[in-house]
Amino acid sequence: MSQDFIVGDQIESPSERISIQASESLKSILLNTPIAFYTCDAEGHINFFNKAAEDLWGRTPVIGKELWCGSWKILYPDNTPMPLEICPMALTLQLGERFEGVEVKIQRPDLSYRTARVYPKPIFDEKNQVVGAHNTLIDISAEREVESTQALLANIIKYSDDAIMSKDLTGIITSCNEAATTMFGYLPEEIIGKSIKTLIPKNRHKEEDKILEQISRGEQVRHYETERIRKDGRLIAVSLTVSPIKNKNGVIIGASKIARDVSELVSARKKLKQYTKELESLNTYKDEFMSIASHELKTPLTSAKAYIQLLAKTVEHSHKGFELTQRSVHSITRLENLIDNLLDISKIQAGKLHCKMETVVFNDVLKNCQESIQPLSTKHRLFINNETDVSLTGDKLRLEQVINNLLSNAIKYSPNADRVDLTVKCELNNLIVSVQDYGIGVPHDKIEHLIERYYRVETTYMRFPGLGIGLHITTEILKQHHGKLLIESKEGEGSTFTFIIPIK
Ligand code: ADP
Repeated sequence: MSQDFIVGDQIESPSERISIQASESLKSILLNTPIAFYTCDAEGHINFFNKAAEDLWGRTPVIGKELWCGSWKILYPDNTPMPLEICPMALTLQLGERFEGVEVKIQRPDLSYRTARVYPKPIFDEKNQVVGAHNTLIDISAEREVESTQALLANIIKYSDDAIMSKDLTGIITSCNEAATTMFGYLPEEIIGKSIKTLIPKNRHKEEDKILEQISRGEQVRHYETERIRKDGRLIAVSLTVSPIKNKNGVIIGASKIARDVSELVSARKKLKQYTKELESLNTYKDEFMSIASHELKTPLTSAKAYIQLLAKTVEHSHKGFELTQRSVHSITRLENLIDNLLDISKIQAGKLHCKMETVVFNDVLKNCQESIQPLSTKHRLFINNETDVSLTGDKLRLEQVINNLLSNAIKYSPNADRVDLTVKCELNNLIVSVQDYGIGVPHDKIEHLIERYYRVETTYMRFPGLGIGLHITTEILKQHHGKLLIESKEGEGSTFTFIIPIK
């Protein structure tokens, strides 16, 4: 290591007489001193360096071969490269002059940097001829790093959009950035040295005492929304974050305060609240309107249906008019179902969709569904695989509504198929009912949305009539029965809608 590299018998000048050979102990001191030190002969060849120099350079120069400096690369403080032949040590040897504390940047082979102040001095012989030079390098990298970090932080504070201020523990403002002067309307010289209460509306002065108490305990106050007062008397809504400032010994000496102007946010929030309230009341009006309108629509419709059914009884079955009365009844029934669904939606909205729970023989439910679904399609055949004969507690009409909805969807969304399968089974005290079709299916990413109110898969808009409320009502009814709906589907292949409800 560097101890082997002692070359040259004397490094000597009239003024600074250092005789390495004469004193082994001096040699050892130079080698082991934590300050980087090296020497060159008259031609500039490095002939001695210590461990600290080696550490600073991040490399070991070759004794007697390398010139002027052991650095891999040297640069000016502004990072422009410094030619080796005009480095301070080279100039000292050429000019016979000493330099005091020239700042240079050293780049090491691992590409890291060190900053040093260098103090090269010539060594003269008795005839005052330069016979060499020695150089002391003081590593100031840490100092420079702190300075550059501080400069960076200062810039961040300076150009921050948030007002940043500091105050001491008595609440006296000690500094502020540009955003603070813009936000509060005071120049730094007008506000520094004043109490922070200058910026606090009178009715909120107690807040500051509380904040200072918290800060003194070393606690931070985060995102505290309050009001502050500008020089022109205008109030501004701010969100404050106040943090303790500690000195080197960890003692709290003040607080930093970051204030963000949240006036726009606060007024936007107020507006949003107001809009939400208005929307809620509009929604209630809408629900009430829908409920009343549906009732009003249903009454004449029911009468019309009854009249047509009466009329049908007076017409011969073979007569053309009979078929027309049947078609009219069918259309009115569809309209009635639609109105019923809209009424149900209003009830769900109002939290008033109640089920009348009683003991239900499930096979009766199935029978009714089978009858009401028949007229919907002449093409589709309904295959029922029923393994049960179960009775359960539920609302008979609502359960019929659920199955009718699933069956009518199965028929509607499988225009090219000719069958729908209905499976009923009981497992672990649960009734499991599946309706399977071989129709258009549902894209995978849409399945989870099907039960949302008014949701319809876009591709079905144009081809199939509907309001997108059937499955929403279905899930609501199942919820009342403590049950759930499962949907499996493959686009182009078909779907299976399964509901599960506990029997007890
Ligand atoms: P509607 O059928 O009146 O639109 P639903 O709430 O019953 O309302 O169904 C919502 C949407 O789910 C339908 O618009 C359709 O896009 C899709 N859907 C429901 N059942 C099926 C099915 N068996 N096959 C394919 N898509 C279906």
